[in-house]
Amino acid sequence: MPYLQQTVTDVHPWSPNTFSIKLTRPDGFDFTNGEFVTIGLRQGGKLIARAYSIVSTRDTPHLEFLSIHVPEGELTSQLVQVRPGDTVWVNSKPTGSLTLKHVQPGRHLYMLATGTGLAPFMSLVRDAQTFSGFEKVILTHSVRTVAELAYREELESLVGDNFMYVPAVTREPFGFNLRCSDAFISGDLFRHTKLPPATPSNDRVMLCGNPEMNRQMRQYLDDNNWTMTNHRGAGNYTLEAAFVAHHN
Ligand SMILES: Cc1cc2nc3c(=O)[nH]c(=O)nc-3n(C[C@H](O)[C@H](O)[C@H](O)COP(=O)(O)OP(=O)(O)OC[C@H]3O[C@@H](n4cnc5c(N)ncnc54)[C@H](O)[C@@H]3O)c2cc1C
Repeated sequence: MPYLQQTVTDVHPWSPNTFSIKLTRPDGFDFTNGEFVTIGLRQGGKLIARAYSIVSTRDTPHLEFLSIHVPEGELTSQLVQVRPGDTVWVNSKPTGSLTLKHVQPGRHLYMLATGTGLAPFMSLVRDAQTFSGFEKVILTHSVRTVAELAYREELESLVGDNFMYVPAVTREPFGFNLRCSDAFISGDLFRHTKLPPATPSNDRVMLCGNPEMNRQMRQYLDDNNWTMTNHRGAGNYTLEAAFVAHHN
């Protein structure tokens, strides 16, 4: 059986449409920080499961996830209702392309996240090893409302010589209001952070965003001499879909 029965230990709402959950961690369940795993709920004997990036690190005893609540979503309309003591099923095989194995050491590591695309980067920035290969790690998180800036306090507490946190809010008044992809492409991100513009020879990029932001960034990076990391680990950017859009 690839799905392992786990217990909810904590639920934390961030905004009307985002929340985090903590689960017990299956015995022997190992993963690399930045990976995702499929989790689900059973309803009437049927398992409804979806991919979720792991927010927690491999050295913590529990598993933590950051979730969207899609009111008509098959899984999240139910997942939003779970409470401590309830069961969530966790697949035994985590995987993913947002790990340190997918970025060579370099000057600056840019992590560009939209919405719940923050999740894998939480796991990475909670791990001191992530900072050892770079002069600076810059995490940009764009969301629509201030309340959707999940983990903001924790991220602000990590800011220092080697870590910069750039929150951006697009639909409410806020200091920085550009989508992270637009800010990267226009150069506003570099003016805002007072860092030199990113170059493929010096810097690295990790993307976890909505399908439009991933498409837009991929196109820009490919057109500007960046190369996506291949299966041998060579390249200077890597990405994961934060979700897949279904059009009916
Ligand atoms: C590799 C990977 C990692 C993922 N990691 C996460 C994660 O860490 N947290 C998370 O909440 N989701 C994540 N997702 C999305 C997740 O798998 C589900 O799509 C989400 O839980 C909604 O499930 P659902 O059954 O309620 O709705 P679905 O039927 O799956 O989706 C309905 C619609 O909701 C929208 N949608 C789905 N997910 C999101 C989202 N995260 N943000 C904004 N809109 C969305 C899309 O338009 C989609 O068409 C990931 C997806 C992939 C492919």
